[in-house]
Amino acid sequence: MNFELFKKKVKQLLKNNCYKLQDFIENYSITTQKKYNDYFQAINFTHHVKDIVNLLDDNTRQMLFKIDDFKKYYELGDLYSLWRIIYIKLEEPIIIIGSGVSGITIASGLAINNKINFLILEARDRIGGRVYTSDRNMDMGAAWIHGSENNPLNKFINYNNMIPVANCNPWMHSENAAIKYLGVKGVLAEEYRQQMATKWNQIATKIGLKKNKTIYEAFLELNSEGFTETKEGSDIDTEDIYSFLYMIEVWCGGSIKNISADFLNETNYNNALFGDYGGSHYLFKNGAKTLLDNIINNAKMHSQYNILDNVLYNEIVTDIIYNDYCVEIKVRSGHIYYCNKLCITVPPGPLKDINFSPPLDNLHKKSLSKIKMGSYKKIQLEFCKNEIGQMFDNCPMILTYNPFILWNNYIYSKNKPILEAICPAEAGWALAGYSDEELADNMMSHLRNYYPHLPDPIA
Ligand SMILES: Cc1cc2nc3c(=O)[nH]c(=O)nc-3n(C[C@H](O)[C@H](O)[C@H](O)COP(=O)(O)OP(=O)(O)OC[C@H]3O[C@@H](n4cnc5c(N)ncnc54)[C@H](O)[C@@H]3O)c2cc1C
Repeated sequence: MNFELFKKKVKQLLKNNCYKLQDFIENYSITTQKKYNDYFQAINFTHHVKDIVNLLDDNTRQMLFKIDDFKKYYELGDLYSLWRIIYIKLEEPIIIIGSGVSGITIASGLAINNKINFLILEARDRIGGRVYTSDRNMDMGAAWIHGSENNPLNKFINYNNMIPVANCNPWMHSENAAIKYLGVKGVLAEEYRQQMATKWNQIATKIGLKKNKTIYEAFLELNSEGFTETKEGSDIDTEDIYSFLYMIEVWCGGSIKNISADFLNETNYNNALFGDYGGSHYLFKNGAKTLLDNIINNAKMHSQYNILDNVLYNEIVTDIIYNDYCVEIKVRSGHIYYCNKLCITVPPGPLKDINFSPPLDNLHKKSLSKIKMGSYKKIQLEFCKNEIGQMFDNCPMILTYNPFILWNNYIYSKNKPILEAICPAEAGWALAGYSDEELADNMMSHLRNYYPHLPDPIA
């Protein structure tokens, strides 16, 4: 049954009634339901309820009377609650939890398909989640497009506005990318870096063949077998090889002590895909926020609809209750939202804090319990304009040692004198509790091992 036509008839029926009721019938929807939350008390509208239900076609009426709550509210004459059920069943509104790239992309797909009765509940006061570009055009979360071939995000990306960095995954195959290597012997020559990359490729291929081991265990085993050692006479220092190992953490965000060695299995390793896409890897010229803007603008262009109008901010979902005709979503502030379909885009960490009724099945519970809270720190040092430009040869990436394994050089990508250290997994946890000053001192003494005359940062 067509909800809009039905609504028209109901409005006609109620045209001489109180403004509050008319306003509710006219405007109650998935995006306005918060406004009407306090309407849902059993007010006796028995007479109207009967007339309204009579306006439904036979099939819809039969379908609704199979719902216990519908029968209950009908008997009570609770028109508001009854209307909510009719709306949910006929309009099938959707709630999306989370307004990160996933949530925004789902919303954009719905808008383009003319389905605009959706609501996004977002815990923070902004969209984007782990995509966040600061006012200074720095990406505090995602910054890269990991492979441009067949990437499903391509339809939202204009590659003329992107900065190419490497023709394939630079973290696993650094031989293909411009990376400045600061090794145990100081700043290393390109020839030496290429020799090390070749050695590392051999080691990584061997790691991928180890069964039932983590990457770290497999590496240690190869170490004890003497494989990681370099031939006599070779200049390669085994210590240097460790930074290649930890590049895996920089790239995939997890600890090599948790990631299975199979992850580097031979086929994958040679293709350097591991879950990313083929082709060049790019940085966003104007920040990863461009991606969000493009997704939103694409929806606007195809549907004339601004999906941001359907986002509610500062709504932290705490409970998800499935019942026989809708999904009830409780948020920390006490409001309850109702929908017919639900998309959850919350990452596993915060997902563990949401109560489900009925509870998640054991398989899902077990999988979630295995996921540990990760750490992926980005720490940025700003220098005086262009003081550092020449020192780092305008290379996009600088590889060093624990805990500051990889540095991004923003002179290269954004012409900003900012160096950003990436400290993933254990390296990230180890920095917890340090003050900003302590961190900056630590980073500077690390860098001054190589560049004793490096000036102090200004921020
Ligand atoms: C430092 C860092 C660097 C990264 N670099 C890259 C990169 O260069 N390239 C790349 O492809 N990927 C990168 N990633 C990964 C990438 O950012 C994520 O895969 C992607 O942003 C995930 O998007 P999402 O929408 O699925 O989740 P999220 O972005 O996490 O969005 C989930 C949303 O749900 C909200 N939420 C959470 N709990 C609740 C709740 N209870 N109620 C309501 N809302 C809730 C959150 O506030 C958030 O807005 C990086 C990640 C990090 C942390």
